[in-house]
Amino acid sequence: MDILNTLFATAHYPPRWSCGSWTPFWGWLHIISDIVIFLAYMGIPVVLLLFKHKIQRFKVKFIIILFACFIAFCGITHLNEAIIFWLPFYNFAGVVKFLTAAVSATTLVTLTLALPSIIKIINEKRQSHELKGIIESCPQGILVVSNSGKILYANQLILTMFGYELTGLVGKKVEMLIPETLKTSHAFMREQYLKAPNQRQMGIGRDLYATNKQGKKFPVEVGLNPVTFDGEAGVLCSIVDITERKTKELELNLLNKSLKQSNSELEEFAYVASHDLKEPLRGIQNYSMMLIESCFESLDEQSQHRLSKLPKLTKRLEEQIDSLLEYSRLGQLNFEFDIVDMHKKVQDTMELLENVITTFNAKIRIVGTLPPIYGNRVNLIVMLANLISNAIKYNDSDRPVIEIGALENQKNKDYHTFYLKDNGIGIPQEQFENIFKIFQRLHAKDQYGGGTGAGLTIVRKIIQKHNSRIWVESSVGKGTIFYWTLKKAPVDAHDSASTA
Ligand code: ADP
Repeated sequence: MDILNTLFATAHYPPRWSCGSWTPFWGWLHIISDIVIFLAYMGIPVVLLLFKHKIQRFKVKFIIILFACFIAFCGITHLNEAIIFWLPFYNFAGVVKFLTAAVSATTLVTLTLALPSIIKIINEKRQSHELKGIIESCPQGILVVSNSGKILYANQLILTMFGYELTGLVGKKVEMLIPETLKTSHAFMREQYLKAPNQRQMGIGRDLYATNKQGKKFPVEVGLNPVTFDGEAGVLCSIVDITERKTKELELNLLNKSLKQSNSELEEFAYVASHDLKEPLRGIQNYSMMLIESCFESLDEQSQHRLSKLPKLTKRLEEQIDSLLEYSRLGQLNFEFDIVDMHKKVQDTMELLENVITTFNAKIRIVGTLPPIYGNRVNLIVMLANLISNAIKYNDSDRPVIEIGALENQKNKDYHTFYLKDNGIGIPQEQFENIFKIFQRLHAKDQYGGGTGAGLTIVRKIIQKHNSRIWVESSVGKGTIFYWTLKKAPVDAHDSASTA
């Protein structure tokens, strides 16, 4: 009670109106101005405190409260100044002034100390604002998740992809976007990622799924990147809905499967058909020989001519059936792969074709040492024999000259590119694809030593079975170059290749 009496004691002082000789104008000027300042000063803390809840950082919140108190105290000192004109409670006014001084000094010190972190917060806010701009303009769905797994931000594409409003996502756990069965493992993976956060694809080698607001599960691809967003450490996740791609992949796989099946059915059919055709053909061959032996003399000249054609035609048919059989057998065969010394393989093939090479006086040069490859040694000889004999056969020059070499494969470092170059008759460009088709010959059946037109088809099949490719470059009258690729032998196996 004593304290209150002392505080509000007015007996020792005259009211301000009685100090000096105030004119009403100057006196009211002070009073009205002090009251207006008081009202304005009281308004500022009210506004500040009204918006206080929007500020999340405790430090900033504290400074705002301190600042509101400081302004409020300043306001009260002005109100006191006005009241003192009638009620001279100078003691109470002095205490209020003291409190104002204490609060303002505390505000000043706190503000000075907190200024660096406030500047940091402002900068972070600005950066986050800029980051939001980038995220929004990104053509991919972007989600920012804090290290504690809380969603901090999502761009429009994410909102469309998942069917949420931004307010429905921000502040929630990211696991709300993960299918129920994967929620636990996702939380675990998230923790693992945070042990060494870096820029990478999420779940390499695994199928990732997300779930939208309606609970629909869909496949996604997710890229992760550590970021600081609004001053909080987190992860920027770029999310792509790959439903369409997955459906296309599935369709392609099914198509591939059915294509493979119909291909192998066709090969099986060709194999069975050509195999079964051989028997009746042998019968025709035998009967025609018997006919020639028994009644050739008794026939007229035209019939004799016709009958003598029969063995030739059946022989040709037999060759074609044999080629078809060989081709379809290749399709059925499971190629066994091994390290093959290509240099030695070419030499072996040359030995095999020694007769033809000597007959045509052909010169074959191997450029350097051919590298070892990973392939099927038996069928590679078949392939080389076809290419070399063609290079000798389809040649009008005085002496067939053939060059075989290897080039560095520019497109795929796992493969070697080989070539076989001749000085033969060449192939017109429009026939480059046709020569690989079965029974396609560019010449009359007896020209250039004849042939069934299946050799290059078989060559291509062998190369395809090696997951490789073959192509041709040629100009008519100048010669032809066949190129083909073959998988490189493993490096540490080069030494043992010499035995292949
Ligand atoms: P074949 O030799 O039995 O006719 P291939 O399939 O081996 O069958 O060849 C198909 C056609 O490609 C040949 O008829 C020939 O016209 C052409 N050809 C193949 N190799 C060469 C070559 N080195 N030079 C020119 N033409 C070639």
